[in-house]
Amino acid sequence: MLPEDISSDLDTVLLTEEQITARLAEIARKIEADYEGRDLLLVAVLKGAVMVMADLARELERHVEIDFMAVSSYGKSTHSSGVVRIVKDLDVDLSGRNVLIVEDIIDSGLTLDWLRRNLQSRNPASLEVCALLRKPDALKVDIDAKYVGFDIPNDFVVGYGLDYAERYRNVRGVAVLAPHVYS
Ligand code: 5GP
Ligand code: MG
Ligand code: MG
Repeated sequence: MLPEDISSDLDTVLLTEEQITARLAEIARKIEADYEGRDLLLVAVLKGAVMVMADLARELERHVEIDFMAVSSYGKSTHSSGVVRIVKDLDVDLSGRNVLIVEDIIDSGLTLDWLRRNLQSRNPASLEVCALLRKPDALKVDIDAKYVGFDIPNDFVVGYGLDYAERYRNVRGVAVLAPHVYS
C-alpha cells in the first residue's frame, strides 16, 4: 500500500460530494429567503468548517461577509470537553450584525454551546447556527441549529474538512474511517 493512498483507509461513504453540494444549495436558498433585506456575516471555526464555509458562501447569491476563529479545546482530543481557548479571534465586531455560525459537525454540542455563548455576549443583532452534520445520538446539550445538512449515526467520520490526526480533511465526501487506521 502506498503511503499516500487514502481510499483504503475509508469504510462506508456516508455522503458523496454530490449529495453535499445538493444539500448546501437547498440550505442556501433558505438562508437567502430568511435573511432577505438584512446583512449577513458567516463565522466559522478553523479548520473543520473551511470546506462548508467555502461551498456555502459561494452558493449564496447575495452579499455576504466571512470571518474565521481558531480555538483549542482543553482535555483529551477524542472527546470534546466544551472548555475552549481562543487562539485566533474574529477580525470583525459583531455588534448589530446578523451572524450565522457555519459548522462542520455537531457531536456532543459542547463546543458550539460555548461558541454560541461567547458570540452572543458580543451583542449581535441575531445569532444562528448552520451545521453540515449532526449526530443526534451524541448530543449532550441542546443546540437549536437553524440549518442542518444531515443527521448521521454516532460513528467517527472524516472528510470534507473533518480530520483524524489532521489527515483526511481533503477527502471530497464524508466517510467512516476504517478501524485499521486507529488500531
Ligand atoms: P462537539 O463539541 O460537538 O462534541 O464537537 C467538537 C468538534 O469535534 C467538532 O467541531 C469536530 O471538529 C470534532 N468532531 C466531532 N465529531 C467528529 C467526527 O465524527 N469526526 C471528526 N473528524 N471530528 C469530529
Ligand atoms: Mg468544528
Ligand atoms: Mg479534529
